[in-house]
Amino acid sequence: QFQQNIPRFHGLKKSAPVSNNPSQNQQDDSNPLRKKFVNPVITEKKPVTNSEIEVDPLLKGFDKAILERIEREIVSNPSEVTWNDIIGLDAAKQVINESITIAMNHPEFFTGLRAAPKAILFFGPPGTGKTLIGKCIASSCSATFMSISASSLTSKWIGESEALVRAMFSYARLKQPSVIFFDEIDSLLEKRDSDSGGGNETYNRIKTEFLVQLDGVSAVSKNDRVLFIAATNLPHKIDEAILRRFSKRIFVPLPVEAARVALFKNLLANEKHRLSEEQFEKLGEMSEGYSGSDITQVCKEAAMKPLRKISNVLSEISVDQIPPISFKHFIKAFRDIKPSVSAETIKVLDDWNSKYGFSA
Ligand code: ADP
Repeated sequence: QFQQNIPRFHGLKKSAPVSNNPSQNQQDDSNPLRKKFVNPVITEKKPVTNSEIEVDPLLKGFDKAILERIEREIVSNPSEVTWNDIIGLDAAKQVINESITIAMNHPEFFTGLRAAPKAILFFGPPGTGKTLIGKCIASSCSATFMSISASSLTSKWIGESEALVRAMFSYARLKQPSVIFFDEIDSLLEKRDSDSGGGNETYNRIKTEFLVQLDGVSAVSKNDRVLFIAATNLPHKIDEAILRRFSKRIFVPLPVEAARVALFKNLLANEKHRLSEEQFEKLGEMSEGYSGSDITQVCKEAAMKPLRKISNVLSEISVDQIPPISFKHFIKAFRDIKPSVSAETIKVLDDWNSKYGFSA
């Protein structure tokens, strides 16, 4: 019975999985009132062709299979993310907008001393919006968005990691403007004994290839529009000698109280709820130490509460009869969902920020 009712879940209760394959994301066209959303990134960026591989010097020598895998697994299509979707983080947003997005859109103005950064580092606790900002930059420049994490580079691409790193940067240049978003960079660029000769040879080779490519991004012609964004929760682990390659290091902290209130309001905007302004303020106070993604989890949990009570009669009622989400549902949700970031982690990040971070 529960299974039969799954399509009733919507909004916070169940979101449709988004596929990288545009054909799987097509909406129901039977309703003429529903305007079909066409993402400019999908329409403008064509998959790499056989002739491109043969003719384009950037792709010559790459195995077609690896390029196809890049397109399938790394090039993603961020459904339009706007700055308004990112709550709080005003300082980070301002720096990024001024020094990166505008420069990506008008590279001719940003040369010489005004040259835009080609590689930036986002650091901060997990779930605070680093990936979201990366997608937003790509989206606001209609750029190809490529996203990979250090752990998938070494686990899913065993034996091919170096070739992948090379191919990924070449692909980004070919399909520019592009944003490469590299998560968990600390595990690729951490200080290791391996740097003094010992250590893991495979790791050293991948790291060396990566640094060669990263330097390539910074050195390429001024009109090249490839932005490399590295993200980490553990910036203090990164080799200091490598840090200078990231000309901007931007702190993406936990949301402050006003941002937390705004996050709750945003997440509940399209849900049936009975929360007053004071109760929203109270949620902001209660969620001290929660990240944006923790708050999303709290809201999802709270949204499930009114349904759980009536789960045995779902087939007899309509969606409109689901009781509204109320403050008491949040009290229960807070009991289930705890903040995912510890006080020690925050302290380490704050300290690192005052030493190495870019202040707006
Ligand atoms: P990370 O910093 O680990 O890259 P993400 O950007 O992937 O975090 O955020 C995870 C999810 O949490 C987002 O998809 C979004 O739903 C929510 N979220 C986190 N921070 C914010 C924010 N500042 N504004 C809006 N949503 C946020």
